[in-house]
Amino acid sequence: MASVAIDGPAGAGKSTIAKRVAKELDYIYVDTGALYRAIAYALLKERVDIEDEGALIAACRQMTVEIRYEDGVQQVYLNGENVTPYLRDEETGNMASKSSAKAPVRDALLDLQRNMAKQHDVVMDGRDIGTNVLPDAEVKIYLTASPKERANRRYKELIAKGEVADLDKIEADIIERDERDMNRAIAPLKQAEDAALIDSSDMGIEEVVERILSVVREKLL
Ligand code: C5P
Repeated sequence: MASVAIDGPAGAGKSTIAKRVAKELDYIYVDTGALYRAIAYALLKERVDIEDEGALIAACRQMTVEIRYEDGVQQVYLNGENVTPYLRDEETGNMASKSSAKAPVRDALLDLQRNMAKQHDVVMDGRDIGTNVLPDAEVKIYLTASPKERANRRYKELIAKGEVADLDKIEADIIERDERDMNRAIAPLKQAEDAALIDSSDMGIEEVVERILSVVREKLL
């Protein structure tokens, strides 16, 4: 089985790009952020105080997170229920950013991610795939863009959906999330030594996909 690991900060376009790359290669796309969001969703719903280690450990033990593919699209099941539609809002994202720094949460998801890569050819995106989850991945990409550009993209996305958006606030949130992801004690976001760095600030989607495919061809084919 072969693995393509794509790590990088929030809003760098990882999921859009990873989905495209997976389709080109006929690999499975694994969105690991959705797994952390599923746990965050459960923690919010059950009002678990994530600073209370005992409570967090107990809550994580009671959860079963599974990945299934329906019409080729990843669905995340929490205790047998498909929670995929509830994972994308800001509240869940913010909780995921905080709770993913905690050991019981990261431990709960490690085997699931590794098993996916054992059983399938995968393009897996996240924060610590190349450094921690799949250190032997054949291809590692670190995909980033400037905070300003990432905020701009998110702003345009929200405006296109007809939502109200404040560009400065979005940029401040992105910087705060980067800080948290990069400075946590366990599995912080950083470029793996053997990862190819792609800064997409001035690149279009096609260009980034092509660049990644050229790395894949060099390493795998
Ligand atoms: O990528 P996404 O925004 O969906 O991820 C939600 C949160 O989950 C991130 O802010 C990050 O803190 C965390 N995460 C992580 N490790 C991963 C994927 C996501 O810590 N492999």
